[in-house]
This record gives sequence, structure tokens and C-alpha cells, in this order.
Amino acid sequence: MEDLTASVNNLRSKYREIFHTSVKEIEKRVLALKPAGVVDIFDKYPSNSAGEKWQKAVLEMFDNDICKEIYRKWNEILLYRKEFSCTGCGTCCRLACSEFSPEQLKTKSENGDRFAKQFLSVFVPYESKEDARKIYPEYIKMLEDNKEDEVYFYHCPKLTDCSRCSDYNNRPQICRDFPDNPLALLPKSCGYVKWKEEVEPVALMLHSMLEIIEYYKENINANINRT
Ligand code: SF4
Ligand code: SF4
Repeated sequence: MEDLTASVNNLRSKYREIFHTSVKEIEKRVLALKPAGVVDIFDKYPSNSAGEKWQKAVLEMFDNDICKEIYRKWNEILLYRKEFSCTGCGTCCRLACSEFSPEQLKTKSENGDRFAKQFLSVFVPYESKEDARKIYPEYIKMLEDNKEDEVYFYHCPKLTDCSRCSDYNNRPQICRDFPDNPLALLPKSCGYVKWKEEVEPVALMLHSMLEIIEYYKENINANINRT
């Protein structure tokens, strides 16, 4: 039986390692802009002071330099996915998971969330977790092992008994885009597993950088002088 719990733990430990490297890299870029006489990027500095200018320069460097590069690389990863193809195993049609219940998705959809709207136009909920377990037991076990937050299980009624989409030409964008994230777990049968394996280290690095930048931005913005 495929041990997805071990795969997830392995991914987490790789992420921790990469995260530490990214912290150091970003810190180096922040310190390279540091003027003399200031100490901490997260301090509160007077208006127009060297410290405040440093904070603004760092925010600008994040937006105009690092983030643009991250998005460029992420798009390259998604473009590269086109060199691989779906093998038609049907697993992603038989089992889709969401952190949201059908009612929550409905509310989100009514509030203009396009993803929720599309998701509900494709998937219907399983009656029970046990029904979902029959499709992909390793995945359900991994969720249980990790004591993840509540997860809701869905399936698409358009999938035929021989794992074909009965409305293939009209399938919505979320089906055409799957998998749109190399950090998501994919079943072994998926034709995109090789793609995921190849791009995963870079995707982890990009993800960690975004997480760290988000932390910097939040904390700088909480202290920066806005007058
Ligand atoms: S619409 Fe087709 S491709 Fe999309 S989930 Fe359903 S069966 Fe799969
Ligand atoms: S899990 Fe992968 S190979 Fe299987 S149907 Fe979905 S995209 Fe295709």
C-alpha cells in the first residue's frame, strides 16, 4: 500500500530545510539595503528617517524584484506541465477534497467566489467518508494520520464506469487545469507525477520565499510610518 503519510512527512521535512535556506537568502537581501545607524527592519522609525527609507526600499524590493521573479518561475513550472499528460486514471474526478462543506461552498459561490462556483458545478459530495475511502484509502488514511482539519469529499457524476469524462469537450477550467499545484499530493497513477517530482524542489523554494516575504511585509507594514 502506498504510504502517503511518509510522503507527506518527507515533504514537510524537505520544506523545513528549504525554508531555513530561504530565510537566510532573504535576510541577506534585506541587510544589503540597510543604511548605517539602524538596527532592526521591524522597528518603528520616525518619518523620513533612514530606518523608514530602509523599510520602504525593502517593500519595494519585494514587490518589484523578488515577487515578480517568483511569479515568473511559478508560471514556468505551470507551462512545463503541458509537456506531460493525463493518463485518464480518473482518480481526480472520483475524489476531490475541500476544506469547505457543500453549504460553505454554496455561500462562497453566492458571494462571488469563482472557484467555489466552478467546483460546485462539477462535484457532488460523497454520502460518507467511508464511500470516499473506497476510492483512495491511502489518502484518507494519511488525512487521519495527520489529524488534518475537517476535509469534505466530493466526486463528479460525469465520470463513466470506464473512467472517461462523459462531457470531455465541455469540461470546466478547473478540470483542464488539474493539477495546478506541484505541491499537492497526486495519486501514483497520475500522469503528472513525473512533472511534480521534477519541479517540486523549486516549487518548495518559491513557496517558502512567499511565506517569508508575507511575514516581512505584515510586520513592516504594522510599524511603518504612513503619514
Ligand atoms: S467534468 Fe469530466 S474531467 Fe471534470 S471532474 Fe467530471 S468527469 Fe472529470
Ligand atoms: S489523477 Fe492525473 S492522470 Fe488521473 S485523471 Fe486526474 S489528471 Fe488524469
